[in-house]
Amino acid sequence: MTMFDVAEKLHELDDSRTIFAKRNPDWSATSEAVVCATPDDDSHPPEAVGFDYLLEVSIAKGAVEVWSGWRNGKQPTTAEKLDAVIYYAEYDCWLPLDGQKPLDPAVVRERFIATCDGFGEERCRWRDCTERRLKGLAFCYEHYGSRPHSANSSEPS
Ligand SMILES: [Zn+2]
Repeated sequence: MTMFDVAEKLHELDDSRTIFAKRNPDWSATSEAVVCATPDDDSHPPEAVGFDYLLEVSIAKGAVEVWSGWRNGKQPTTAEKLDAVIYYAEYDCWLPLDGQKPLDPAVVRERFIATCDGFGEERCRWRDCTERRLKGLAFCYEHYGSRPHSANSSEPS
């Protein structure tokens, strides 16, 4: 499976899964990808050894929805979906409209929280953090955003 395949059938993928893809050296349409569940302890799944963490399926769908929303509901092509997803994975923010300045971080935060459908019941899993985690994620917004995006990395001490 390639990143292009993932973008093409993104809407069919289970929200609880996570996308992993190989960089060559960047993520692109031809990058090899796997979509799998992550273990409860949030460690790197065995199916994804050799792949880098890209994004949760739910977040990738959110990136595509925001892309569409910012373009008056335009339906993205597969290549455009891929752009939105990879941009989000790289920069932790939505692909801006052409010529648009990057968004105010407070606005990005608000939209991200809306994409997650608000907060879950439990606390963020990051060390002593007392914030509530985002719905469907293991971390609060700050810690989700600052979470290392590569395989084999661990929380900073
Ligand atoms: Zn936190």
